[in-house]
Amino acid sequence: MRKPIIAGNWKMHKTIAQSLEFVNEVKDKVNNDKVEAVICAPFTLLKDLKEATKGTNIKIGAQNMHFEENGAFTGEVSPLMLKEIEMDYVVIGHSERRQYFNETNETVNKKVLKALEVGIDPILCCGETLEQREATETKSVCKVQVEKALENVSKEDIAKVVIAYEPIWAIGTGKTATSEDANDVIKYIREVVSGLYGELANEVRIQYGGSVKPANVAEIMNQSDIDGALVGGASLAASDYTELVNF
Ligand code: PEP
Repeated sequence: MRKPIIAGNWKMHKTIAQSLEFVNEVKDKVNNDKVEAVICAPFTLLKDLKEATKGTNIKIGAQNMHFEENGAFTGEVSPLMLKEIEMDYVVIGHSERRQYFNETNETVNKKVLKALEVGIDPILCCGETLEQREATETKSVCKVQVEKALENVSKEDIAKVVIAYEPIWAIGTGKTATSEDANDVIKYIREVVSGLYGELANEVRIQYGGSVKPANVAEIMNQSDIDGALVGGASLAASDYTELVNF
């Protein structure tokens, strides 16, 4: 059985004080054992968030990392640095990183491999643009992104990878894919993983992301193939986050 995972992606929001206030508000209310609750936050918040959530049901993730362990990469953060502060997850290949920071399928693959090597579970993002969707390329785009990202990931490691299907046109726009459409693409992504890993694909959790909020989370989570949600905007308010993870 795959345990659904609901992860907030705070993007570039919150100070340390605001993040600790958030945790204080939600920590005793996050009590849905059937769901894994995660917060993916900016680097400056991670150590404090990890400390503040010890003994709670909330796991913490970073939103990016470099694929090298150290070196002359000014401004970057190493996977070992994230491991040192006990990160549970790291988001890799978010569309905003692909769009604004030159993330490619190749760098995404290197990061996925390195995260697994150091013992941090990757949340690997894929998804099509509106143009690609209109050209009915959704599935072929996701196939290429997923297959390239998983190159050389071993059978032992594949179940540690979480895939987030995030149609780019639905991120931060208030537009969601219909839950049936999202389910259909996610089912297809599992077939792609199955083409690479056979039965082990049934152990890989595949989330939906794109304008998920308390009002639509249950409908999305009730789909047969959707194993969770990656949530941006609606994960920022403590009350919404609580509703999302306790949906
Ligand atoms: C995201 O940041 O991954 C995301 C899905 O954002 P939003 O929920 O705001 O659309």
